[in-house]
Amino acid sequence: MYLQLALSRAGYPLNLDGIFGNQTCAAVEEFYGTFGSCGIEGQAGERLLPYLRGYRSNEAGNTVFYPFPVVSGRVPYSSFLTKLAVDGLVKRYPAIETGSIGTSVTGKEIPYLKIGRGPKEVFYNASFHGNESITTPVLLRFAEEYAGAYAAGGEVGGVSAALLYDNYTLYLAPLVNPDGVDLANGWLDRGASFRGAQAIAADYPAIPFPSGWKANIEGIDLNLQFPAGWEEARAVKFAAGYTSPAPRDYVGEAPLTAPESVAVYEFTRQHDFSLILAYHTQGEVIYWKYLDYNPVNSYQIARYFGSVSGYTVEETPAASGYAGYKDWFIQEYNRPGYTIEVGRGINPLPMSQFSSIYEKNIGILVGGMTEI
Ligand SMILES: [Zn+2]
Repeated sequence: MYLQLALSRAGYPLNLDGIFGNQTCAAVEEFYGTFGSCGIEGQAGERLLPYLRGYRSNEAGNTVFYPFPVVSGRVPYSSFLTKLAVDGLVKRYPAIETGSIGTSVTGKEIPYLKIGRGPKEVFYNASFHGNESITTPVLLRFAEEYAGAYAAGGEVGGVSAALLYDNYTLYLAPLVNPDGVDLANGWLDRGASFRGAQAIAADYPAIPFPSGWKANIEGIDLNLQFPAGWEEARAVKFAAGYTSPAPRDYVGEAPLTAPESVAVYEFTRQHDFSLILAYHTQGEVIYWKYLDYNPVNSYQIARYFGSVSGYTVEETPAASGYAGYKDWFIQEYNRPGYTIEVGRGINPLPMSQFSSIYEKNIGILVGGMTEI
């Protein structure tokens, strides 16, 4: 699919079906001008990579940007594509800075993007869960539209990008669980990590593999790792049968044992976030509450998010009411924190839902700054 996306962007439009059939073969041949040799996979990858980054270097060593946006909404994301997109965004938009909040179990980077220089810091993250990676391009596209509007002196979501930039500092972590995302999307090679996950999944045969995978690669659910009612979460999930590493819902041996959750935790503690959004999928619902905490304006902001997205505002159900990132954030800081559940259907949600999900969320993404 990435090859097909790159070829499409290079002027050879293809269906992005992931099947290396006659049309894709013909496009590869035309792109390279080497007919009868469409088996040149390695080379095909290398020369088409610029089309995934959105820029190339010309012979004089200057950067040339392609006329299409960096962030595609047509293909499922992986750590590979996220890295290329982040590279492309930072290169193209001076407003975007990047860095790392940590690394996954297998050593993959967990990147962050930073936009703005204002005194109020906010933090949005996505893809805590492996098979919820449609949330990754939600944040990446927002970064692109915001930074593009800033460069052009325009608006994003009806608000002046310059106003946002000067008043807020936005941090985005679009891919909290790179290993889990790669596994669920079929990007992981069939090495030791894959086989380890397969062995974990064999204990939970009712969960489809790998498409039902939410956890990190060691079978720990990263959104059940936070020190906010972790014992309660453990009791609930153990009672439901998740007593060992699993594709989802296993809380781990203790809070903050999975490196990806630790990375988000530490990153949060190093900042002074006024508000956080944790992006998940399923149900078009906004969860705003943890226990009886009632951060100032939290419910009003939730209602606002509901009004601009059309999503339902609900209190967190007891079965998933503990040990999540937003639960811990609310408990620790008594400030507004939200789980945003986008889309409907079976995870991973098809990318055909992406445009509509993004449109529904633009008001939330902007409102996460302007409403605090
Ligand atoms: Zn989730």
